[in-house]
Amino acid sequence: MWTTLLVVNVIQGLVALVWMQGFRRIVAPRSPELSAALGVLGLMLPPIVMGAHALDPIAWPDTWIAVRTALWIQRAIEIPPVPWLLALFFVGTTLVFLVQELLPALGRRRARRRASTSSDPRWTNALVRVTRAAQIAQMADTAKTARVTAAVVETQNAFAAAAGFGQPAIQISRGLLDRLADDELDAVMAHELGHIVRGGNGRRLLIWLLRGLQAPSPAALICFRTFVEVEEEACDAWAARLLKTPGALARALIEVERQRARLLGPGSPEAAAPRRAFEIVEARASFARTQIRVRRLLDEGFDVPLSKLVMLPSAALLGGLLWLIR
Ligand SMILES: [Zn+2]
Repeated sequence: MWTTLLVVNVIQGLVALVWMQGFRRIVAPRSPELSAALGVLGLMLPPIVMGAHALDPIAWPDTWIAVRTALWIQRAIEIPPVPWLLALFFVGTTLVFLVQELLPALGRRRARRRASTSSDPRWTNALVRVTRAAQIAQMADTAKTARVTAAVVETQNAFAAAAGFGQPAIQISRGLLDRLADDELDAVMAHELGHIVRGGNGRRLLIWLLRGLQAPSPAALICFRTFVEVEEEACDAWAARLLKTPGALARALIEVERQRARLLGPGSPEAAAPRRAFEIVEARASFARTQIRVRRLLDEGFDVPLSKLVMLPSAALLGGLLWLIR
C-alpha cells in the first residue's frame, strides 16, 4: 500500500516534470515567473490528485487508467532485490531532503533569529521610496505594503530577507547595508518586496510542506529546487520592472558574493575541514546562481507579468493527465 503510494507519487511527479519542461519551452522559454508557477504546480498537483483518488467513490473502469501502478508493484516486489532497492531509493532521497534542504534552512533561520536587530534611516527610507513606487505603478496592494517594516540584522554576513507572516519585516544585514549605495538598497528592497507581493512566507511555508510531504520523490526535489532558484529570478524581474534599475540590483547581488568571499577567505574544499568544505561548496553554488541572475538582469531586465489565463487551463490539463496514473 505505502510502496504503491510512493511509486505513484514519483511517477506522477516525473510526468509533471516532463510536461512542465515542454510547456515552458513552447509558451515562454525565458520567463522565471512562468517557471516558478509551474514548479509550484508540479509540487501541488501530485498530492491533490492522490487525495482526490483516495476520496473518489467511483470504481473507474480499467480503460480510464493509463498506468496501473498497484498491479505493477505487486509483481515487482516478488522479485528478491526489488523491495530492498525500492527502500534504498526512498530512504536515500528522503535523506537528501533532510541533509541538503531542511537542516541548512533551519540553521540559517536560527542564525538569523539569534542576531540582534535594529533600524537604520537609510533602510527605512528605502522602504518608503519603494512602497510608494509600487503603489504608483499599481504593482502592490496598498493594504499589504502598509504592514511591511524594515529592520537591520546586526551581522557582518551579507543577506537580505523578508521575515514573518502577517506583518513582514524586510531585513538586511549590517554587512550588506554598509556596502551598498542608495539606488542599490532600493533595488534590494524592491526584490524583497517582490517576495511579499508574490505570496510571502505564507506561500513559501505551503511549498515547504508540499516538499516535505513528498520527501522520498526525486521529482519533487527537482521541482522544489527549480522553484527556489527561479523564484529569485522572478523577484529580480519584478524589482526591475518596478524601478527600471536592473544594473543596481545586479551590483547589489555581486556585493553579496564579494562579502561572502571576504568572510570565507581563500581556500579549496579539498584542503578544508568538513564544515568549512561544505561552506566553500555552498558559496560556489551560490556564486554560479548569482552569475545567472546578473546576466539575466543585464541582458533582459524585466519580464512580462504572467496571466492566470495561461495557468488555470494548464493546471487542469496536467491534473487530468495525472488522474490517469494510479
Ligand atoms: Zn530573494
